[in-house]
Parts: sequence; structure tokens; C-alpha cells
Amino acid sequence: MQLVKDRFYIWYNRGATFLGAVLIVLTAAAWLVPGLELLHSRFGFIPFIGVLGAIQVIYGLVFFKRQAQTNIWVAGLLSSMVLSLITISLVHNSGQLHSTLLICWGVQMAFSGIFGLYTVVGFDFLFTFYYVIVATGQSAQNALEPTALGAVAGTYIISAISYAVFKRLYVGSESKRVTQLTGQLRNKQQQAEILMQSISDGIIVIDTEGKISLLNPAAGKMVGWAVDEAMGIDVNLVVKLLQEDGKDLPADQDPFKQVLQTSQQSNSTAQLATRGEASDRHIVSLVVSPILTPKGNELLGAIAVFRDVSAARQEEHRRADFISTASHEMRTPVAAIEGYLALALNDKVAKIDQKAREYLVKAHESTQHLGKLFQDLLTSAKAEDGRLVNHPVVVEMGSYLQQITEGLRFAAEKKGLLMDFTLGTGNGEASVTGGKVITPLYYVHIDPDRMREVITNLFDNAVKYTETGKITLGLTGDKDVVQFFIRDTGNGIPADDIPHLFQKFYRVDNTATRTIGGTGLGLFICRKIVELYHGRIWVESTQGKGSTFYINIPRLSNQKASELQTAEKQAVLG
Ligand code: ADP
Repeated sequence: MQLVKDRFYIWYNRGATFLGAVLIVLTAAAWLVPGLELLHSRFGFIPFIGVLGAIQVIYGLVFFKRQAQTNIWVAGLLSSMVLSLITISLVHNSGQLHSTLLICWGVQMAFSGIFGLYTVVGFDFLFTFYYVIVATGQSAQNALEPTALGAVAGTYIISAISYAVFKRLYVGSESKRVTQLTGQLRNKQQQAEILMQSISDGIIVIDTEGKISLLNPAAGKMVGWAVDEAMGIDVNLVVKLLQEDGKDLPADQDPFKQVLQTSQQSNSTAQLATRGEASDRHIVSLVVSPILTPKGNELLGAIAVFRDVSAARQEEHRRADFISTASHEMRTPVAAIEGYLALALNDKVAKIDQKAREYLVKAHESTQHLGKLFQDLLTSAKAEDGRLVNHPVVVEMGSYLQQITEGLRFAAEKKGLLMDFTLGTGNGEASVTGGKVITPLYYVHIDPDRMREVITNLFDNAVKYTETGKITLGLTGDKDVVQFFIRDTGNGIPADDIPHLFQKFYRVDNTATRTIGGTGLGLFICRKIVELYHGRIWVESTQGKGSTFYINIPRLSNQKASELQTAEKQAVLG
């Protein structure tokens, strides 16, 4: 029980400790200083009081703090009990119920209220008990004298007033605050409930074992489970997630498992199947976030927010359809124009004067640019709605990249740039055993034509945005990933642009890009293709020094690679 603020008990103890010290001094003075015997004979400062004073001081300085750590009310109360013992002893030694030191008792009673009702009653009882002992004739002259009765009544009245004052001052204001806080909390709880009930996004909270501890009605509707029914059930039984194309979701891509294992947020888009209705599937964007303790060191569970994006997806499909059809249709006449322009520029088939040739060369270049734009538009539209043609096979990246590099070398050298290919182990170098260079085999599962598009795109950019120096293609990796990079010694990319570089139509706005043609679609397409293979693409760049584009792709173990290759061969034969 605690009735007032902690500092009151602390101040009470300080006062009592100080009084203890004063009592030691007075007791010593009563015996040692000639002329102060009165203190002993009249005011009752016998050596026992000095001992009690010492106990009070030792308790106040040493033990109070320790006790206060567990319960400060008890700590204060113990301090006041020693003090009561001292006052009653002094009163007893110096005229009992007629002692002038009853004033000290009165002062003590004035603070008794801070310990609460029971303590006040205890003090009153203690004094009444003392009165009765004295009054039953032990040594009282006349216990029924008004002074004696007044002392008892005074104890009651002062302690009652003290209780009332402290209750009003502290208990009252504290309890008012408690009521206010409870009200606010109830309001907050109601608000949270209203929010959960009315929000159209599905919300599911799971514990660390994957059991559902909260599910709002919107989520219930999406998964086809009644809210009460789903509580406490494993989330994978309730939330049936499939890949966007309807295929089963591999276990290692389960967002709930991922978040519970890594404590990292997961963002994904998936198909959500409603229970019992095979045809009712929504495309949902799903954000699963870990729920951590306020200090962030312990995982308590995870919260998933689902948003039905089926309508938006359909709209995207329609738009992508339009773009693919339009760019496909427009590519055909553009190809025809480009062909005829090429014919017109061919000395063997057409005769044109120098001026006309200059114009036609420009027209030819622009047509080529337009053709590339339509091609990029078509590819990006397909990449966005997952219709990119994709036939993954097992590819050994070392020989694959080497072959591609040879094909690209010409374009770099034409611009006077050096071209290099480095192949290394995980730490960047090929391992040397017995004088022989052993290059590891980096197997991946990709469509080589699609990946060629990515590498060619990055390489073309490196050539486009580099005036002098070298372009390096490199390959490294560890047991889980294969990493390859394309490094140039060009102008580099401003740090502000880097986060946006892989977005659609994003081009860095500088003199180089204004003079060098481009669509801003190349890196977007690269990202989409790399993501198709669960890979990651990013760039590191220093302005003025050059850029390095990195790609990480999951690596296939040699065993897995040969298993897949056997399956591929059988598929071809069968
Ligand atoms: P673009 O058709 O404009 O080249 P991309 O998507 O391929 O479109 O590239 C986007 C932008 O990234 C470019 O406009 C260019 O500013 C910047 N960029 C790409 N590669 C490099 C590079 N190797 N060095 C410097 N800037 C680059």
C-alpha cells in the first residue's frame, strides 16, 4: 500500500534520522555536560534513548534505502515505528501522561496520515494502550485528569486530521488521475476496436508459434473464416497463399515464416485463396512486420496487413495490354521505315546526293531509337504483368559470361575503351592449386536469353556513359549466391539518383543523358528480369570515378545442377 508520493516517505525518514542524531547528542549532553542534568531528570534522556537514537540513525542512513527498493511505504513505516518507540519512552520517562514531551508525540501524529488509515488506527491504539496501562494504576497520579484525557483525545484528533489532509491532498488527486487515465485508456481501446472493425485492409496478428491471436473482419472475409473460429489456429491453415501466377508458394518464401525467423519486415504480392471457394482468389499485397519488445530485442509475434489489389492489378493488365498491343503494332511500320531508310542509304540500290544522305542518316538513327523504345515498352509491359517469355535452364555463369564478353568486346573497343573479364572465388580471386588455376563452377537456373538482355543493357550503358578507361565484367560468389558485376570508369551516378535508378522511365538529368539518347526503361527491365530469378540488382557509384552494377542470383549446388540438367535432357528426349 502506498498513499502518497515517494518523496514524502523519504523526507519523513530524513526528519526521523535527524531527530535520532539530535537525541544522541542530547542524551550524551545530559550525562557529560555539567548543569544539563535536567535533561536526564526532567525530560527523561536516559542512555536507552541514546541507543534508540542510534538505531534510528543507522536505520535511516543504511537500511531505509534497501527496504525502499522493495516497498517504500514499509520503509517509511519502520522509520516511524522507531520514532514512536522513542517518543513514547521519552513521554514515559518524563511525567507520563502529563509530560511536556507529549507535544513531540502530537507532532509525530500530525504526520501519521501519510501512512494511511490502518497506521493511523495503529498509532491511536498504541497510545490508548499506553494510557490504559498508565491509568490502571501502575504509576499514574491521576489518569483521569483532563491533561491525560486531553493527550489521548489530542492523539485521535490530530491523527484523524492528518489522515484527512493527506488523503485529500494526495490519495484524492492520485485516484482522480487514475480515473482519468482509465477513461482515456478505455477510449483508446474503443478507438482501436472501431479501427480494426471498420478498416477494409485485412489485419492478422500471430504469436511466435504462428498461431493467430487477432483477426479483423476484413481479413476474415478475405480468407473465408469466421473471426472467432480462426483464433488460436496456425496461420498457414487459415491464410492460403499462392504465387501470383497461381503456383504453390515455396516454403522458404512463406512471408510469415520469414518474418518469424528473421524479424525483418516482408513485402510481397501473392494470391490469396478463400476457404472452400476454389474460384475465389484475390491478389493481395501483403506486408508482414515483426512485433518486437519496446527495446527491440525480443520477438513477440508478427502483424500482417493485406490489401486486395485485384482491381488495381486488372487495371494494370489492361494498361499493359494496351501498351503491348500498341507498341507491337507500331514496331512493325517502324521496322519497315528503318528497312527502307537502310536501303536508301545503300549505294548499291539507291543513288542520293550528299545532303539527302545526311538527312537520311539522321532519320535512320531516330528510327532505330524509336524501334528500341517500342521494344523496351513491350518488354517492360510484359515484365510488369508477368508475361515475359521465360525458359529457365541450368547455366554455368563462368563460361556463359566469358562468351557474352567476347561478343560485346567489339562495341567497347570501337569507342576506345579497354575490356576486361575477371573470374574469382568468393574472395574475388581464382584459387590456385599445384600451379593450376581452379575456377569454381557457378551454376544458376536462368533463361540465358533473358539474362543476356540484362548484361547487354548494363554493358551498353557502361559504354554509353564512359568516355575513357575500362569496362570490367567480373564473377564471384559463395555457396549460396553467384555475383557478377559490370564496372566502368565513367562519370558515375549522383547519390540522390541511385535509389530511383531502377524505376520505370527514370533518367539522370545531366548533360551526358541529355545528349545521349535513352528511354529510362533499360534498368527497370533489368530489375524485373533479375527478380524473376529471385535475384537482386544494385549499383555502387562514385561521381567522377565510375559505377559498378552488381547482380546476385541464387547459386545451384553442383549436385542440384546435374539433377536439373538430367531432367532437362529427359524432357527434351521425351
Ligand atoms: P537509359 O535508356 O536512359 O540509359 P536506363 O534505365 O538504362 O535508361 O538507365 C537509367 C539512367 O541511369 C540513365 O539515364 C543514366 O543516367 C544512368 N546510368 C545507367 N547506367 C549508367 C552508367 N554505367 N554510368 C552512369 N550512369 C548510368
